[in-house]
Amino acid sequence: MPDTDGRVVVDREACIGSGVCVLHAPHTFAHDDEAVAFVADPGGDPAEDIATAVEACPTGALRLTARETEE
Ligand code: SF4
Repeated sequence: MPDTDGRVVVDREACIGSGVCVLHAPHTFAHDDEAVAFVADPGGDPAEDIATAVEACPTGALRLTARETEE
């Protein structure tokens, strides 16, 4: 279980609009008119669900900001 404060960022250049993040954390992520994901509410879902979405993203477009200190 990654260490997270529930903050997450989307690299919108890398997003291909798969919708996986919206599936796992529907209150945190949303799609804009072009199906590119954005963070609608950083604390919209439990941290575990957000972490699952980050891991499931097929392009690695999502990143937990708390992880930046580990890399
Ligand atoms: S899972 Fe990744 S590629 Fe799919 S919509 Fe979310 S950010 Fe975009």
